[in-house]
Amino acid sequence: MNAIQSISAQLSFDVASVPTDLYIGGQWRPGATGNRLDVVDPSTGAVITTVADASIEDAIEAVKVAHEAGPAWAATPPRVKSEILRKCYDLMIERREMLAELISLENGKALPDARGEVTYAAEFFRWFAEEAVRLNGEIYTAPSGANKIIVEHQPIGVAVLITPWNFPAAMATRKIAPALAAGCTCVLKPATETPLTAFALAQLYEEAGVPAGVVNVITTGKAGPATSAMLHDARVRKLSFTGSTQVGRILLREAADQVISCSMELGGNAPFIVFDDADLDIAIEGAMVAKMRNGGEACTAANRFYVQKGIAEAFSAKLAERMGALAVGAGYDSKTQCGPLINKAAVDRIAGLVADAEKCGATTLVGGKPLDRDGFYFPPTVLQDVTADAEITHQEIFGPIAAITTFETEDEVVAAANSSEYGLISYVFTSDLSRGLRVSERMDSGMVGLNRGVVSDPAAPFGGTKQSGLGREGAHHGILEFCETKYIAASW
Ligand code: NAP
Repeated sequence: MNAIQSISAQLSFDVASVPTDLYIGGQWRPGATGNRLDVVDPSTGAVITTVADASIEDAIEAVKVAHEAGPAWAATPPRVKSEILRKCYDLMIERREMLAELISLENGKALPDARGEVTYAAEFFRWFAEEAVRLNGEIYTAPSGANKIIVEHQPIGVAVLITPWNFPAAMATRKIAPALAAGCTCVLKPATETPLTAFALAQLYEEAGVPAGVVNVITTGKAGPATSAMLHDARVRKLSFTGSTQVGRILLREAADQVISCSMELGGNAPFIVFDDADLDIAIEGAMVAKMRNGGEACTAANRFYVQKGIAEAFSAKLAERMGALAVGAGYDSKTQCGPLINKAAVDRIAGLVADAEKCGATTLVGGKPLDRDGFYFPPTVLQDVTADAEITHQEIFGPIAAITTFETEDEVVAAANSSEYGLISYVFTSDLSRGLRVSERMDSGMVGLNRGVVSDPAAPFGGTKQSGLGREGAHHGILEFCETKYIAASW
């Protein structure tokens, strides 16, 4: 039995049933380059399969097809759009186990995390099915009394959607569902590491009744040139990107030439603040989920733990005990609680961050070194007394490392927490509600988890301040990102 046969034997579906070609205009086809891109299983390092490698011409063809499908989709009655989106939700829930296994296979995350992702991803279809029929405008009288001001929301046009590998389903549906609800057509370019989930979902959209050309999916080994070509095509009016701040900056520059509307969900460096008066058990539960969901490979992952002096020792010891007890293994193994990292480069980068923190004075309470086995494993690690000059304080860790620092006063911790170019999310734990709300308001971040380690919710506006991004996904805000506001001055 070869590596792939042995992996397939552990899954409830046949990996070969997942499409691997480009999905353009409702057709599956190989890329014009004829090249294929390897998809690797991070749990073993083995190649699972290969996917098509789109050329620049393929990318432009996808834009053309999306543009042609635009008017009919925009004119489709909201109720019809809503029911198609709802069907996408139903099919995702029906196939949750298969999709979860596929996510675990190509991304490495543990099955419970993958199941959670499928549910979360599907919820964007349910939420935006509901929003599709509530895209209300406004009408009011001009202050002069001379006319009426009519405001309506129209689909912005063809949207290019680019997603990362850490949530292969949710980052795609968080964009596709509102785009379709608003009446836009789109071209999705998933991350090269995790294209299979995007293709499996494309198959599902078709079954749900999404017309050909409304959603197109391309994989490419030339993300930069292919995206640049699409952003320089006047038919594209929207870019919605989720990924690193570094790539986000490049794309903002690219989008400037055609003045394309941009939504950017970028990197984070979340502070996790625990005050002395916090309930220790609640803070630990919050830390476990905020740190360990997806093995720490989340933009919302707690990065910098600031723990007040009186509770620091108990918190660190308990967190080390809980993190050290997690079962590390293949994502799709039912016993696994923490899967592998995405690739070897991620393991090396994290090993470097831990070594640097130790050199700067931190103590490792548990974990600390890559695991010596096939696949890309770094164990859950807790570092104590991490100093402000350690690299780990400034970089997004994107792995299962908790870096703990102690503090004494509220002003001191607010200043430290806000001293980052990122502003995606902050976590605050305290039993004093007025302190909790006060500190939450002082956090320079788009979101705050107050006595909670999870905030993600399709019904809430997700997004960051500073270099964590522009715009919001989810909630009513999410659909407006795919709309132009039309104002009509009317007299009658
Ligand atoms: P990444 O390297 O920025 O890649 C993200 C996507 O951009 C991938 O599809 C990638 O394609 C593509 N890409 C890379 N270079 C490009 C270029 N020059 N032009 C156009 N596209 C390009 O990020 P990642 O490593 O996949 O994901 C991790 C990052 O995403 C973290 O920083 C994390 O915080 C962030 N993230 C943010 C949120 C949020 O909501 N704020 C959510 C999840 C993740 P290839 O795969 O082909 O390189």
